[in-house]
Amino acid sequence: MLPEKNHSAVFSGPKNFEIKDLPLSRKNNDVLLKTLSCAVCGYDVRVFREGHKKVRPPIVLGHEICARTLNTLNLPNDQVIPEGSRVIVSPLIPCLNCQHCNAGYFNSCNNLNEIGSSINGGFADYISIPRNNILIDGIIPIENNIRDDEASLIEPLSCCLNAHLNFSIPISGEFVIIIGDGPIGLIHLQISKLYGAKTIVVGKIPSRLNEAKSIGADMVLVNNEPDESVKKIWDYTYGNGGKLIIVATSNPEGIDLALKLAGKNSLISLFAGTSKNKILRIDPNLLHYNQITLSGSFSSTPKVMKKAMDLVHEQKIDLKRLVTHRFSLDEIDKAFNATEGYNGLRSVINSF
Ligand SMILES: [Zn+2]
Ligand SMILES: [Zn+2]
Repeated sequence: MLPEKNHSAVFSGPKNFEIKDLPLSRKNNDVLLKTLSCAVCGYDVRVFREGHKKVRPPIVLGHEICARTLNTLNLPNDQVIPEGSRVIVSPLIPCLNCQHCNAGYFNSCNNLNEIGSSINGGFADYISIPRNNILIDGIIPIENNIRDDEASLIEPLSCCLNAHLNFSIPISGEFVIIIGDGPIGLIHLQISKLYGAKTIVVGKIPSRLNEAKSIGADMVLVNNEPDESVKKIWDYTYGNGGKLIIVATSNPEGIDLALKLAGKNSLISLFAGTSKNKILRIDPNLLHYNQITLSGSFSSTPKVMKKAMDLVHEQKIDLKRLVTHRFSLDEIDKAFNATEGYNGLRSVINSF
């Protein structure tokens, strides 16, 4: 028997959560899941503080989800997910009608909806998954050796992996510079190492940079004085600069720094969304004469998410070390404060 109420943290407008029981309703073809854990993303905190054009309150945020199936799911691809299975969920709800959907790039859908942005997400005891998510295999069973809280970080891992799979340059043996020492930066660090790159992490928080060092970054740098950081990195890379520079911070200064660290034939990836009102100023000759590619990357697809899950299952990527705080749903304010205060790495909301 399903309960009738869904205990939820409702985002009701900038800087405001209401913890309340919503009626547990779902549309006919939706699949209802029991949430097990949902991690707090930097995006969630930005939405909470400033609002976002994609998000219309009141709504339940949260898109980094691990959940349990409440009944057996017979999926369109003939896969069967038994009742009681632990799963992760792609946040994508594509239209399945546009040219990007037709090409399988569901994250680029022209009419994209997203769990935790445009429909209710994972900061609740239960979550309802729409049909168009099921049709792209958005519900992915996870292996037994992956913990719930760790599993909720497969979504951000999948976004990072999607960026790497789209990079047009090989990075084995090359210098990869990661700007940002948060969980996303540290995931990019692990992937870059997996691909054989030499890695430099630039950040602001000493404890996080220590973590980067212990993950195996070749160089870590506290960026107190950007000009000094730029000089140190050009020296360290034998005057070549970075081959791949990943901006994994929503602080717009990260992009200015990236432009100063890019070597010839390099690629700069803008991985994080930045706060509103940032207009970039770029010297076009810098890009032209040095053949620098400036690129963006957003979200992922269920196919890549499955690959990300395999990397965690095979213990090639360690997400456990990134979960530093655990909270109950009623403590969501604390979880957001910890994320905003750069306190530890990822905070996860556990729901039982
Ligand atoms: Zn996220
Ligand atoms: Zn579409």
